[in-house]
Amino acid sequence: MCPFLKQQIKQKHDMTLVKAYAAQAADKPLAPFTIERRQPGSDDVEIKILYCGVCHSDIHTARNEWGGTIYPTVPGHEIVGKVTSVGAGVSKFKVGDTVGVGCFVDSCMHCSNCEADLEQYCENGNTQTYNALSQDKTYTTLGGYSSHIVVTQHFVLSVSDKLPLEKVAPLLCAGITTYSPLRHWGVKAGDKLAVVGLGGLGHMAVKLAASMGAEVTMLSRSPGKEKDAAALGAKHFKLTTNKDAMVAMASSFDFILDTVSAQHDYNEYLGLLKTNGVMIIVGAPPQPTPVSAFPFIMGRRSLVGSLVGGIKETQEMLDYCAEHNITSDVEVISAAQINEAYERTLAGDVHYRFVIDMATL
Ligand code: NAP
Ligand code: ZN
Repeated sequence: MCPFLKQQIKQKHDMTLVKAYAAQAADKPLAPFTIERRQPGSDDVEIKILYCGVCHSDIHTARNEWGGTIYPTVPGHEIVGKVTSVGAGVSKFKVGDTVGVGCFVDSCMHCSNCEADLEQYCENGNTQTYNALSQDKTYTTLGGYSSHIVVTQHFVLSVSDKLPLEKVAPLLCAGITTYSPLRHWGVKAGDKLAVVGLGGLGHMAVKLAASMGAEVTMLSRSPGKEKDAAALGAKHFKLTTNKDAMVAMASSFDFILDTVSAQHDYNEYLGLLKTNGVMIIVGAPPQPTPVSAFPFIMGRRSLVGSLVGGIKETQEMLDYCAEHNITSDVEVISAAQINEAYERTLAGDVHYRFVIDMATL
């Protein structure tokens, strides 16, 4: 028998059926669905998912806004749960441990980026938690809107039981995506930093940057979020629709962290940077935006991007948040409310992360 077929048959036998929520097409709502999870291999950890955050990337993917969605797709990459079984080779975890899984579940482990703890930039392509090809290219990953997941131990994070777990789940994407660039670009006490967009990523950016001592300005198009921004730790709040306020902020920030999910004009923000200032893009609008050469030339400014964070840094971020009592502001929903949560997120009505209680699956 051909080895590939043999492997497929073996895999079929080693599968467990679990409950999930999936999108069957870009224009279809998510609905209950049954998926297969592999039996834990020697290096695997099986996790019963307790909570899964709802990231805007889930919406981009479920609706095929970035292209390349493979249906049925099960989104979800802000996973917290309990270990239910481990393979014989697992040393990092034991049954009953509280753990997390973020945006990717595998990578080649031998390229220079993987060796530098930057698995998110794996030169051979990491395997994202959902809608990605497994490293052996035999299946497409399915994410955390499900009752269980099986993940290689290296990609599983330790989660402190000190913090409420539903509020910890969003740290696995929104937390690390904002923590990593703050650390990489060395944001420190006294730096003037603007966060653009107060949603899931934005609210974590404000909390984390403020905890590092930065003077945070919230740049939002939503007047109703001013009080919340202050409570999250922003010293100033400016409406991006107020042209006079935008002009008055010219050349005033060391950093801008842009978390906006929809197309917007980066040129309007670049001029707000001081000389040598850095604008960091983490929001991922599906459409491209042209930028002018002048704001870069005139102030030696930079426009850069950042993708989540490596496993080592994600653990560091989780430990930092446990130590500093930093969690996400969440609205816990049942699995059946997922489509409504997508609509509310798109309408900017999220305060500031929806998290699915998996017990409701
Ligand atoms: P979210 O909760 O929906 O927040 C996005 C915020 O952007 C909104 O609350 C809103 O804030 C602002 N916004 C939305 N539409 C806008 C528009 N048309 N013009 C101006 N502002 C607008 O989304 P999220 O979960 O934080 O994700 C944000 C983006 O980051 C998504 O594109 C997601 O895919 C991406 N992402 C990237 C990474 C990475 O590694 N780089 C990781 C995770 C997510 P205001 O109301 O305050 O203006
Ligand atoms: Zn995400």
